[in-house]
Amino acid sequence: MSEIEIVQGDITKMKADAIVNAANKSLLGGGGVDGAIHAAAGPQLLAECRTLHGCDTGEAKITKGYNLPAKHVIHTVGPIYRFHSPEEDAKLLAACYQNSLDLAKKNNLHSIIFSSISTGVYGYPAEDAAKIAFATAKNWLADHPDYEMKISMCAFDQRMADIFKKEMNS
Ligand code: ADP
Repeated sequence: MSEIEIVQGDITKMKADAIVNAANKSLLGGGGVDGAIHAAAGPQLLAECRTLHGCDTGEAKITKGYNLPAKHVIHTVGPIYRFHSPEEDAKLLAACYQNSLDLAKKNNLHSIIFSSISTGVYGYPAEDAAKIAFATAKNWLADHPDYEMKISMCAFDQRMADIFKKEMNS
């Protein structure tokens, strides 16, 4: 059954068909969740990422998960907050969720765990980002009633989990 749920903790420890990395345009690793995913997956992940030649903001690319419990990593590049207009920021963040879900479906995947894209170093306010994440995920499920997809939103800490809970119930 398709559903949206909240999970809390380190995404690199989580099992799913795919976890979603908040990557940067180079796809060659960085800090935050990106660094944690590369560290846990091992050097083969970086080697595969090198073959992808980067990723534009709002787009998504897929690799294997290597040493991760997750089978695949979907790398998406969130907007740097206030780098674009507010409308454009929101559109790009929604595109991250939309394109990651489309890519998961295209690869016949049925469970996906999102990190909270753009809410770390990229500075997107957590409440606004959560609104976009849940709205885009809900719309995606409504648009694909015949496809089974379990969508999880990963909160790294309690504060984000509380924001997610509020958003899911709104
Ligand atoms: P961005 O550059 O897109 O802002 P960050 O990695 O800086 O990406 O942060 C994105 C979110 O990932 C933040 O909410 C941060 O708390 C969270 N995060 C950092 N490390 C992990 C991890 N190991 N597992 C899950 N979430 C994480």
